[in-house]
Amino acid sequence: MVPQFDAVIVGAGFGGIGAAIELDRLGLRDFVILEREDDLGGTWHVNRYPGLAVDIASVTYSYSFEPNPHWSRLFAPGAELKDYAAHVADKYGLRTRMRFGTVVDGARWDEQDQLWVVSIAGGETLTARYLLTATGFLSQPYTPPFPGIESFAGKIIHTTDWDADYDLTGRKAAVIGTGATAVQLVPEVAARVAELTVFQRTPIWVVPKVDAPIPGVVQELFARVPLAQKAARLVNTGMLEALMVIGVLHYRQAEPLNSAAALLAKAHLFAQVRDRETRAALTPHYDFGCKRPTFSNQYFPTFNQPHVRLETHAIDHVEPDGIVTADGHKTEIDTLLLATGFNLWDVNFPAIEIVGREGVNLGKFWRDNRFQAYEGITVPKFPNFLSLNSPYSYSGLSYFTTIEAQMKHMGRLFTELFRRGERTFEVTERANAEFLDRMTEKLGSSVFYGGDCATSRSYYFDPHGEATLLRPTSTAAAHREAVSFPLDDYTYGRGAGR
Ligand code: NAP
Repeated sequence: MVPQFDAVIVGAGFGGIGAAIELDRLGLRDFVILEREDDLGGTWHVNRYPGLAVDIASVTYSYSFEPNPHWSRLFAPGAELKDYAAHVADKYGLRTRMRFGTVVDGARWDEQDQLWVVSIAGGETLTARYLLTATGFLSQPYTPPFPGIESFAGKIIHTTDWDADYDLTGRKAAVIGTGATAVQLVPEVAARVAELTVFQRTPIWVVPKVDAPIPGVVQELFARVPLAQKAARLVNTGMLEALMVIGVLHYRQAEPLNSAAALLAKAHLFAQVRDRETRAALTPHYDFGCKRPTFSNQYFPTFNQPHVRLETHAIDHVEPDGIVTADGHKTEIDTLLLATGFNLWDVNFPAIEIVGREGVNLGKFWRDNRFQAYEGITVPKFPNFLSLNSPYSYSGLSYFTTIEAQMKHMGRLFTELFRRGERTFEVTERANAEFLDRMTEKLGSSVFYGGDCATSRSYYFDPHGEATLLRPTSTAAAHREAVSFPLDDYTYGRGAGR
């Protein structure tokens, strides 16, 4: 049987767009990108809450081969990221190969015909030689099952489903959650509502944000002399890399640097919050880096405002007109804003059902064994499948460094496949096991295992208690390996069909 497409890509965010550009470059032009939302952009299409901005400097949070000299700020607002995604997709002719509003239920490897059969909600199936999932890490919104939440009579908004028409003016609002999203949202909400209660379960490390508008003259310089923007990117990426590699991954060897980051965050808090009790409540009791820290100059001062209150008692239940905490206190509200993040491990690894060779189910394999993927991209028994959001794929820094390393891995793999005149590839059990051992060993030096992460409730840890979300190497090492991995880490085959 001849497959309908060279490839199916699931997800039209930056990961899917990068993979599509690479497939085009490799000559695999007959692909389709399936996207459940009604437009492209992934995270930057779905998230539209007030205050949304990138928190990795924009010179770095973009494709290195497609610099944008026109970012308005060092940390661009979310809408600019969405525009940038649209610009890149149009420039590379991808939009016509995207199908929106298309929910993929699952995909199954057809051993006889050596192709992937992709099932779409509603009953349609597509076939493709190669399958790439670019379904993101933070793409399945999470709403905790608070008892009574269904009885709430006011307005409930999750940050991934923002209702821009809902007027917050004069409301009695609650924000539940104090992750990176809440840190951006809370100051914006506080500026509009009459009363705001922020429900915190675990405080977050917040460091100062060095942000400013990028003057027109600098934008012009970046446009005229791309090397200048490249240099800015290099400096910024180098700084992030040093922080991550030394402070987080080499925690055991460089604990003082990690402590210095925590000290900076504590000094920031001390300078910005007057009330001692509030300060104490906002101070994390786990090591810096156990969970993703964030940047803000507005978040902490919000708690000095008389109409803003930090609530640290656990939520017991929700009533039609308020939230009752475990101490019996009821906070009356009419607006409930859920900054409760995403479900990574239960429903996102993988985001759709994937069944490979010998009927192996990827989600079950990961749960019954350990979460693993060779170089964060391929798994034994899953031929012709690239899982872009895998354990060990994300560097933890700019997501674009991950995307571009994966594009390089694709380039090396497909070039070898074509050189051999073959059509199928599959990573070997040996290569996968060796990679897993190496990553596990490296994690031993990291803050995740060497530090105190007990109270962090960090999504970096999988349900087995292993910190498998992030790749514990520098991004430089990831890029080096992407262009030099041993070619016999894969087996190659003829397959069938075209
Ligand atoms: P998150 O970091 O997972 O935070 C979710 C929050 O909801 C946490 O404070 C969590 O508390 C709380 N929560 C969950 N269940 C709860 C419950 N049952 N009771 C009370 N509180 C509960 O999600 P997020 O803030 O949306 O951020 C996710 C990630 O998105 C970030 O880490 C970051 O990588 C990314 N992000 C990036 C940007 C940016 O670049 N501009 C902005 C926003 C987000 P616990 O901590 O106790 O679980």
